[in-house]
Amino acid sequence: MKILVSGAAGYIGSHTVISLLENGYEVVGFDNFYNSSPKAVQRVKEISGKDFPFYEADMLDKEALHQIFKAHPDIYAVIHFAGLKAVGESVQKPILYYHDNLTGTLNLVQVMEEAGCCNIIFSSSATVYGDPKEIPITENCPKGICTNPYGWTKWMQEQMLIDLQKASPEWNVILLRYFNPIGAHKSGEIGEKPQGIPNNLVPFLTQVAVGKRPKLYIYGTDYDTPDGTCIRDYIHILDLAQGHVEALRYLDQKEGGHTVINLGSGKGYSVFDIINTFEGIMGSEIPKEIADRRKGDIPISLADITKAKKLLGWEPKYTLEEMCRDSWKWQQKYPEGFNK
Ligand code: NAD
Repeated sequence: MKILVSGAAGYIGSHTVISLLENGYEVVGFDNFYNSSPKAVQRVKEISGKDFPFYEADMLDKEALHQIFKAHPDIYAVIHFAGLKAVGESVQKPILYYHDNLTGTLNLVQVMEEAGCCNIIFSSSATVYGDPKEIPITENCPKGICTNPYGWTKWMQEQMLIDLQKASPEWNVILLRYFNPIGAHKSGEIGEKPQGIPNNLVPFLTQVAVGKRPKLYIYGTDYDTPDGTCIRDYIHILDLAQGHVEALRYLDQKEGGHTVINLGSGKGYSVFDIINTFEGIMGSEIPKEIADRRKGDIPISLADITKAKKLLGWEPKYTLEEMCRDSWKWQQKYPEGFNK
């Protein structure tokens, strides 16, 4: 079965391509390398020991997408990772974000429809829940108010796909809402390269640990949580990648409609849990300072993953220790990510 992976050179895309290849899928990938490097594609081929067609192509270039489908008329489904994801940059450059994420997705689904491929798995985010009405968060929790343009693009991309599916029942749509993927491939040869100043705890922390940033800021220790810091649901990137393989199997069985599925570990870890685990692995202290709360941070974000377990038969298996160890291995090997 042939799968087109958009954003295949990115953090989640590259790990998912390996899982797909390991599970016997044929992969076609594309990326415009806005936030990634051809080296990641090379590494994926080396790690998996398999070659696959890869195109340097931009979703905003509809003709380029047409050419991919023309070369591969047998694409069964698209796993759609491509897009911009840096929260801070989205606040500075909202139109860039709306254009890339929304126009890009519109182009992609139009080309898919013309090619007769109506199966899509979309990378959404827990950010669409806004300030959630319930913890742990189930998929029934209503979508909320996003705090930045990036979040709104995910919210709107979801809505576009839901409306498309309602109007055209031949579409089979899965919306995967990721919580906080961290970690890297066990080889340490691929991992996450955040754009600019990382907004998330783990990329920031690992950059402090390798000396790229002077200290880590802990934003608020007066939340209503056991140690006063925010709690998040972290999931190992390898568990997340495997979740896509299971989602494809499920997509193949189900008959149309759209299905929303949370992918997290279902376990909550505080800022101090993460720092302590990292310090234990590194055997040294991370320079840190307690700062005021950050606007827009919610105290707890935690996934209810009952639906993923039930529908996908999927279960995350990696521990927090492994997530931190693998993030650290990648960061040490490639403190700057890949130079393009
Ligand atoms: P990433 O930046 O590593 O990967 C995205 C890839 O898309 C990059 O390689 C980038 O070059 C490519 N891209 C961007 N615009 C493109 C365009 N116009 N045409 C072709 N390629 C383009 O990000 P990631 O962490 O792998 O995230 C993948 C998806 O998952 C994104 O849609 C993101 O919003 C979503 N997501 C990520 C997280 C997370 O914490 N990493 C959480 C929730 C959702």
